Amino acid sequence: MKDTEKSATNIAVPDALPSNFIRNIITEDINVNKNDGRVHTRFPPEPNGYLHIGHAKAICLNFGLAAEYGGLCNLRFDDTNPSKEEVEYVDCIKADVRWLGFDWGDREYYASDYFEQLYQYAVQLIKAGMAYVCDLSADEIREYRGTLTEPGKDSPYRARSVEENLDLFERMRAGEFPDGSRTLRAKIDMASPNLNMRDPVMYRILRATHHRTGDRWCIYPTYDFAHGQSDSIEGITHSICTLEFEDHRPLYDWFLDALKIHHPQQIEFARLNLTYAVLSKRRLLDLVERGHVTGWDDPRMPTLAGIRRRGYTPESIRTFCERIGVAKRNSTVDIAMLEHCLREDLNKRAPRVMAVLRPLRVVIDNYPDGKVEELEAVNSPEDPSMGTRKVPFSRALYIETEDFREDPPKGFFRLSPGREVRLRYGYIIKCVDVVKDLKSGEVTELHCTYDPATKSGSAQSGRKVKATLHWVSAAHAIEAEVRLYDHLFLKPNPDDVEGGADWRSNLNPNSLVRLTSCRVEPSLAAAAPGSRYQFERLGYFFVDPVDSSSAAPVFNRTVTLRDTWAKVEKAQRKR
Ligand code: ATP
Ligand code: MG
Repeated sequence: MKDTEKSATNIAVPDALPSNFIRNIITEDINVNKNDGRVHTRFPPEPNGYLHIGHAKAICLNFGLAAEYGGLCNLRFDDTNPSKEEVEYVDCIKADVRWLGFDWGDREYYASDYFEQLYQYAVQLIKAGMAYVCDLSADEIREYRGTLTEPGKDSPYRARSVEENLDLFERMRAGEFPDGSRTLRAKIDMASPNLNMRDPVMYRILRATHHRTGDRWCIYPTYDFAHGQSDSIEGITHSICTLEFEDHRPLYDWFLDALKIHHPQQIEFARLNLTYAVLSKRRLLDLVERGHVTGWDDPRMPTLAGIRRRGYTPESIRTFCERIGVAKRNSTVDIAMLEHCLREDLNKRAPRVMAVLRPLRVVIDNYPDGKVEELEAVNSPEDPSMGTRKVPFSRALYIETEDFREDPPKGFFRLSPGREVRLRYGYIIKCVDVVKDLKSGEVTELHCTYDPATKSGSAQSGRKVKATLHWVSAAHAIEAEVRLYDHLFLKPNPDDVEGGADWRSNLNPNSLVRLTSCRVEPSLAAAAPGSRYQFERLGYFFVDPVDSSSAAPVFNRTVTLRDTWAKVEKAQRKR
């Protein structure tokens, strides 16, 4: 928040938080003592799928603003649509919000808890002559509605008497009429330039079992009728939602004013879009159902369940949501920015270890057979309090296959015949011989010599070589599976397709590469599922909590080390 705004309002908002238009509105409301100065928000998911990173933006915003202003934030399930909702989703949504670090206390609510109250509101509107029972079919209602350029036509049932409407609505509830045969509609204006105001449907007849109310109801309120009133019932002060509800606001206002009940203020912001990802529950479900991913929690999914299993930290997501801010204009955020926030956080907390993904055996010919040295390795150059650990060094090691080239191209400074490199925390070695598979010609083993005077940390260790390689001791290393994840889509915009192809044609066939015979240093024997490491030179990795066993750990690559966003930021600062 800018200084000027702060002194004008006297609201203590931490300096680090940038101003946004929603903060400005809330601050102004507090200033004029609107709602007695209360701030009460809610996060209102529909339990018809898993939460994704877009929802995280809404969660951070609603819970964040409440916390900032000393207010409250409810968790409310907008469960008005009985056919698409499942209990499984409710449980996962709660777990996801908790994981992000937010707490709704005892305020876990369901729109379905308000069905009776909503029914009474509908009766109130009928009595006021502001709602009527309509016998048009869904298709007919659409025909009568008109278009953006043409006004609609009044329903022939619009002039029904209050008594007849009350009687018919009661009998709709009692189950006297078949599904879809009648609706209750608000009596507003069939010529309104806003289509949402052309006598929208408030209730429909639908015999479907609801996850909470069972078969108690055969009429269900529409989202448009339930949403604003649910907010009102909970005493919400600021109903924050995404831009597509801007055109619905006049309708929500109309209902609240007609009912003369507490009137929350709706504020719309732009939804989050992310490059290389799709953020629509319908599409995410499609990926799951067609088996393009292993489930909602596949580490490639932009769901919070997937992101969590990939190894993201809740802190990095919250930082990201704060940095992208809120705006009134739709835009797409570069996924590199999300990854940048993640690296920043992991850099601080993830201990460094050594792991070799594609092992190439190295024998140090002049190192005594059977000798083992415990070399001292630093756990984190960022945080000395994380201490050091011992890494065993012996005659037979593994290095990364790609760190050796028999015919090194220009600019390749790693190991090649006759060349010296340093082994991290260890010695300088020199490649003296290459063993190949006779049939395939593939390099299967290297023979090297080491220089005992070059031990890391020793007086003569300062001799310069051009590369330092990571390695593990062959006899001590643990075998592990490593899953290298990459973007789920090949193009920044998955909808960027040609010639009748659909967004699925942009799925990245290499979004997962499984390596099953990796070797990790022995300290990882104690790696608990859910812990995070930096594999030196390779990236950040997360012990998969689902597929790991103590005998066979599975490491998910959370993100590589190359930070493309940091470069973007640097270039921007220079300009
Ligand atoms: P989807 O389009 O993925 O199906 P939705 O909007 O139907 O999502 P809801 O369960 O209704 O999903 O969303 C709950 C809340 O999260 C709403 O307030 C909605 O505005 C917000 N939200 C959903 N998607 C995003 C997004 N991409 N960015 C920001 N907020 C979002
Ligand atoms: Mg929705």
